[in-house]
Amino acid sequence: MERFILRLKKLKKISFLLLLLPSIVLASIPVKNTPIPGGIAVIDFKTNSTNPTAFYNTTQLYVQRIKDQHWQVLVGIPLMEKSGKKTIKVQDATTRSFDFEVIEHSYTEQHITLKGKKKKYVNPNLAHMDRIKKERPILSSARKVFSNNTLSTGLFIRPINGVTTSPFGLKRFYNNQPRRPHTGLDYAGDIGAPITAPADGKVILSGEYFFNGNAVFLDHGQGLISVYIHMDKRLAKQGQQIKQGEIIGTIGQTGRATGPHLHWGIYLNQTVVNPNLLMGKLL
Ligand SMILES: [Zn+2]
Repeated sequence: MERFILRLKKLKKISFLLLLLPSIVLASIPVKNTPIPGGIAVIDFKTNSTNPTAFYNTTQLYVQRIKDQHWQVLVGIPLMEKSGKKTIKVQDATTRSFDFEVIEHSYTEQHITLKGKKKKYVNPNLAHMDRIKKERPILSSARKVFSNNTLSTGLFIRPINGVTTSPFGLKRFYNNQPRRPHTGLDYAGDIGAPITAPADGKVILSGEYFFNGNAVFLDHGQGLISVYIHMDKRLAKQGQQIKQGEIIGTIGQTGRATGPHLHWGIYLNQTVVNPNLLMGKLL
């Protein structure tokens, strides 16, 4: 009898703890509204429809149901977007417009010197240019994938535990030549250390490319795509379904990399956004 009461007490304790936790099964990704270049604008709307769609210019956007008729659009804002008023369209039984304001944000500068063998990545020769041209459409069509299903829910988790060596959005210069700002997060790590999927998804690309080296692209649904670049080994095959936490490759320094690290990028409506936002952080 005593034992039974003890067990009951334990059960009570557990159910009390469960009550304290936020909802365990999240049907959406809780992203904070960050309407800056490289950020994500979160736009709330109400609808009776079970499959509303949304567009920024002609690009289809990520929509998620929060609760009942409360829905949200996640809009990835291009790094080069000018500040000011922007408009998206939401379609259900009718078409409605929603405005949002892009706020200016200045990212810091970084100067990188590439020497010796790695110099080819600053001024590629003709053969390299040929290869780059061939790879460009493959990479760009992978970034444009829009699968209608939501493949992941809840917050993303870090793909490796290393320190951030290069933040998202850095304005970069290679041997003093200006290049595109940093389109992802760089994490330091040892060659061969495992890289895990930050969320459920499907492998839409797994290959070896001039700049990216060994790379894997994961589709999380509705134009939300994550990329893993400069890998040593790719352990995920094209078409494979991946669960959050599953190993997809290992840390390397293939392609245009000055040392072993993971470059982690996130695309939303074909636009690079700060991966930290998918992990519930502000920047
Ligand atoms: Zn990087």
